[in-house]
Amino acid sequence: MDEFDMGELGMGERYYHLTESAVDRVVTPERGNYALGFLRDDGFVPRWVGRSTNLRGRLKDHVDEGHPLFKFRYVGPERESFDIECANYHAFKKQLVNRVHPRRPKGQRWPCPLVGCRDW
Ligand SMILES: [Zn+2]
Repeated sequence: MDEFDMGELGMGERYYHLTESAVDRVVTPERGNYALGFLRDDGFVPRWVGRSTNLRGRLKDHVDEGHPLFKFRYVGPERESFDIECANYHAFKKQLVNRVHPRRPKGQRWPCPLVGCRDW
């Protein structure tokens, strides 16, 4: 796999070590979006994208899965968080470990924001 895209995650320039202590220091248990990845010469390379109602807890679940770094942003509204996850998923799909389209919360029928996405 050699075609890594740095692209735009909308999570700013900062990234952090994906360790329990780093997560505890920089992330609160709030809703938001995150990306896991590694560093190459020209920047952060996303390999996994996700969202959670508890970023701190979710990021700690990902420790020891082989991703050395993470980025994140807090996002209040669940719908906005879903839209961001969809955008990140489609933008980086070729290089992501994620194999399934972002899921909607139970009972929601929100369409994916990407025009032409067949996962409606
Ligand atoms: Zn989609």
